[in-house]
Amino acid sequence: MRTRGGVLAAALAVGLVGTGIGVPAPASAASLPASASADTRVSAPLRLPSSGAGAAGTTQIVPGSVNRSSMHLRAAYSVGASLAWGSGRLWGQVAIAATNESASGIDRIELNTVMARLGGLRLGSTTVDGRTVTPTVSDQTISVPLGGVLPSGASVGVVVRFSATLRTTTTGSSWLFARANGIADLYRWIPWVSRATPFARPNYGDPFVTPSSPSVRVILHSDIPLRWATTGTRTALSADGLTAKFDAANVRDFVVTASRDATTRQATVNGTRVRVVSRSGFPSAAVLSAAVTALTRLEARLGPYPYSLLTVSESAGGYGMEGPMTVWIPPRVASSNLAYLVTHEIAHQWFFGLVGNDQAREPFADEAMTDMATRNALGMRRASQCSAARLDLPIYRYSSACYYEDIYIQGGNLIDDARRLMGSTAFWRAIRGYLAAHRLGLAHTRQLLDAIDAASPIDFASRWHSRFPSLY
Ligand SMILES: [Zn+2]
Repeated sequence: MRTRGGVLAAALAVGLVGTGIGVPAPASAASLPASASADTRVSAPLRLPSSGAGAAGTTQIVPGSVNRSSMHLRAAYSVGASLAWGSGRLWGQVAIAATNESASGIDRIELNTVMARLGGLRLGSTTVDGRTVTPTVSDQTISVPLGGVLPSGASVGVVVRFSATLRTTTTGSSWLFARANGIADLYRWIPWVSRATPFARPNYGDPFVTPSSPSVRVILHSDIPLRWATTGTRTALSADGLTAKFDAANVRDFVVTASRDATTRQATVNGTRVRVVSRSGFPSAAVLSAAVTALTRLEARLGPYPYSLLTVSESAGGYGMEGPMTVWIPPRVASSNLAYLVTHEIAHQWFFGLVGNDQAREPFADEAMTDMATRNALGMRRASQCSAARLDLPIYRYSSACYYEDIYIQGGNLIDDARRLMGSTAFWRAIRGYLAAHRLGLAHTRQLLDAIDAASPIDFASRWHSRFPSLY
């Protein structure tokens, strides 16, 4: 049984407080390898986020209880984690500086992580403003009691220490947190402000909802040199290649792949660097070509991609997957399906990334719009192979056989029918208006449909009633 002691933990701990064995501060970026200095865009010390709270003895928490949590928190994340490649053991800590932006007080924060369902999560000491508390774990949710009430507008510092183990197969949902085929996948792993959401579902729907964060800083350490492909940009790399620092802003998650031997192929689209990170045998040239075409066509419809870097990474297996600034493509995708899959996951950068939604409870908002934009960009509209279904249900209510055909195909076709009726110019203008109105927020199916409806004199609401009986 591996322990938390030893060299890895020491390197991690030192890196987090910024005295830096092996983690050069950005001031020494000139000494970094060229590939690292190219990523060095943000000058920031390797420190935990300061919230104005968090030090032991100072707190804005007041006595009382309200039995309330909220996702309306402005939360900055500072994460340090070590990965032991051979055993798949991952351990570290997340420090969250959170301000309660909801209208009332809260007395707990709900953090979601797939490690609780897939990684055999074990929690170490958890603190709230420096005081040790006892969190509870249920399903994928860590509930952190604040020991009192955090009033509206007040801030708190929470530190959660964790350890988990990557799975070694990609079956079921395991690929979200696994090391297989020479690649480690860490999806939705950082304990992140969310709300209790069941992980189990009868299909491959995404059981996630995450508010965007203004600042995510991650230090990753490994016992052998790894090629990390992550959300955000790398801002430092230690001389021994074992420790890397990453920064991201305005993202709702931070996803990671790693391998020993990945290579990079890249291009530029409208000022955005697009890179494909993959192992040998992966069709990186075809994937890069598909990504360039996708980004070009999607930006023409949806407006600018909101970041300067888009990473397309080969994953351990499972399905294609979207993460902020990141797309995962599994190995061995049929060449005939590659352009579609790459385009679909890139389209999620707008619907999920730029404008988020509760992917578990309202999958229409991201999946239907994403697939519509994808098929429109590629000229791939087709009919559904399942009979007409309701489109306003949570992922838990769709069968594995028809989830894709209902939400993606029927949902996408319903949106595309609106485009045909109102005209492409008015339609895409309405969609860009929806993206601007909810930028970096969480929106609902109703708001997406209303944005389309409001942009045309056509009475869409009466057409949509049978498909969205809870909304129209
Ligand atoms: Zn999707």
